[in-house]
Amino acid sequence: MTIKNVTVAGSGVLGSQIAFQTAFKGFNVTVYDINEEAINKAKDRIKGLRHSYKQDIAATDEDFEKGLANISYSWDLAKAVSNADLVIEAIPERPDIKKDFYKKLAKLAPKEAIFTSNSSTLIPSMFMEDTGRPAQFLNMHFANQVWLNNTAEIMGSPKTDPDIYKETVQFARNIGMIPIQLKKEQPGYILNSMLIPLLNAAQYLWADGVADPQMIDKTWVAATGAPFGPFSIIDIIGVRTDYNITLEEAKSNPKLEPAVKKLKEMLDEGKLGKEAGEGFYKY
Ligand code: NAD
Repeated sequence: MTIKNVTVAGSGVLGSQIAFQTAFKGFNVTVYDINEEAINKAKDRIKGLRHSYKQDIAATDEDFEKGLANISYSWDLAKAVSNADLVIEAIPERPDIKKDFYKKLAKLAPKEAIFTSNSSTLIPSMFMEDTGRPAQFLNMHFANQVWLNNTAEIMGSPKTDPDIYKETVQFARNIGMIPIQLKKEQPGYILNSMLIPLLNAAQYLWADGVADPQMIDKTWVAATGAPFGPFSIIDIIGVRTDYNITLEEAKSNPKLEPAVKKLKEMLDEGKLGKEAGEGFYKY
């Protein structure tokens, strides 16, 4: 099957970016969300990407307009998926919401359509039976700012058809992503499986008083040649998101509790990271 028509379900932070990037690369895209209000927000979000595309990847206004012209919108799921070759799901990270969505989608989408999930933490075998087509279902996980941070981590369940996996890898390339191919399921994929333990270790060293963030970053940068240390990375991710992740991690790793407290103090002081002008560093 050749993928031509793509439906992106969920048009929040990531869904709107995935939808525009796909349209920008010439595919017919339908954006689906739950109601008119959500669709109107999506239109604004997508239009709001113009500045980033111009500044970050030197897109012209004409390129941007061509992308916009490839997008249609609907809050009627049956209509939104009626001719879909691929449905990319980017709805909230809640298993109950995703399960319910896949059960509905299974009945409405063409039977050849491939489904992918952008879930950050949930593995495809959790939903494969709900999709009614486990062989045509897998995860394709994008990073925030898809036009710039262009990885697509591709992860099948034990039931994903290898040909469907290959086709998804090719699709990721066709929309300008670097396909990162996982051979089996892994919560956190490759990137977060490595990054979160690094950030946990750095935050433990800081909160336990072993060294300050600048010294920890300096060690990482000088000793490995990496461009940033863990605390610079946290400033880019945003301290609020890092706090939420660390809070969750501390449930199984109590050594992180002092770090959770210190991160909460930073939040209360408005030190939210790079976007706010100050986090572990001043910008
Ligand atoms: P978001 O909250 O910004 O957007 C979610 C969208 O889904 C909203 O527009 C909402 O109206 C819509 N929605 C809610 N219920 C729905 C339903 N039943 N059917 C269709 N649409 C529905 O969330 P987000 O940050 O874009 O995250 C979406 C998914 O992408 C999650 O699985 C998340 O883990 C993943 N993800 C997020 C990021 C990130 O940096 N934000 C990065 C990678 C992956």
